[in-house]
Amino acid sequence: MTNKIKVAVNGYNVIGRRIADAVSAQDDMELIGVAKTKPDYKAKIALEKGYKVYAADEKGKKSFIDAGLECSGLSKDMVAQADIVLDATPDEVGAANKAMYASLGKKAVFQGGEEHEVAGFSFVAQCNYDAARGKQFLRAVSCNTTGLCRSLHAIDESFGISKARVVIARRAADPDESSKGPIDAVVLDPVTIPSHHGPDVNTVLPNIPIVTLAMKIPTTHMHLHSLIISLKQRWATTDKVVEVLSRTPRLMLVSGKKDGFKSTANVVDLAREMNRPRNDLYEAVIWRDSVKVEGDELYFYMGVDQEAIVTPENVDAIRAMFGTMRKEESMKKTDASLDIAPHYG
Ligand code: NAD
Repeated sequence: MTNKIKVAVNGYNVIGRRIADAVSAQDDMELIGVAKTKPDYKAKIALEKGYKVYAADEKGKKSFIDAGLECSGLSKDMVAQADIVLDATPDEVGAANKAMYASLGKKAVFQGGEEHEVAGFSFVAQCNYDAARGKQFLRAVSCNTTGLCRSLHAIDESFGISKARVVIARRAADPDESSKGPIDAVVLDPVTIPSHHGPDVNTVLPNIPIVTLAMKIPTTHMHLHSLIISLKQRWATTDKVVEVLSRTPRLMLVSGKKDGFKSTANVVDLAREMNRPRNDLYEAVIWRDSVKVEGDELYFYMGVDQEAIVTPENVDAIRAMFGTMRKEESMKKTDASLDIAPHYG
């Protein structure tokens, strides 16, 4: 295919490594390179994959040279060659990088650790793909917000939501963050209510009243949401909700009773058995037998693989911003490249 969109990935760890691999799997995109601060094993593997590796600054470049690793230049050299940058640097570093992207006249996708205002537009593909067209800056919202937007949007479209209340048990750290805790505590995150997730959902879905409470628990692999949703339509039933969720893209329904999914550990194990790279689950996972409608209240549990769920959104964001493909076409293409089945349940 000609006229591929040239994509640079700035920041190459939890999110950056995944979105770089996803971009390189698209036949309408070309991965220009990835930028890193340190010449560690992740840099070596990136070079083995054939990615050009750039350093964040001159000091970093010297450390690459001293380590005998090929360094193609500085991140600004990489950005200069790209049509768009996926910024996957730590929280607030993306905001600091914005001036560089703006001065080079490049489009950029920021991640959920940045404030909504950094891009002025927050994105979840199935909710607001069309509105991204022509934007210079966009924020792919955080993992929890992505999962909530996918499921709440589907329920709101079919049944109307008058109020959503969500309690989130958050993984304390990502699997390679050995320096982080808690080891033996439940940390109220924050002590005050609401947590930031509800207001963040409203950056994508402004019309859904939502309050979220969050706590950190000593696990690394997934977040677990408990949702209580008041519906506008009184004719909703458990079966009808299951049917809507089953045909919503990027949601995966699993069953505790029928298939033995009793915990997030089983879900992570499923990803291993599916031979997903890095055990990644790009789908928000809903326990089918937790779905329950009582009167006008809907309840269910949802798991979010924090490391993987935003991967497809980053790919779709690129096509949405350049207007090269319609929403359904882009989502289908992205899903096929990541081995996400179109429907579950
Ligand atoms: P991370 O800390 O794992 O990776 C960021 C990488 O960027 C690190 O390797 C760091 O050394 C590097 N870096 C720092 N400054 C840099 C610079 N100036 N230029 C190039 N590289 C630089 O962070 P992450 O978990 O991948 O998160 C990235 C973004 O994605 C954040 O906004 C975060 O909030 C968001 N996010 C994270 C998760 C998650 O669970 N980890 C989920 C969804 C969204």
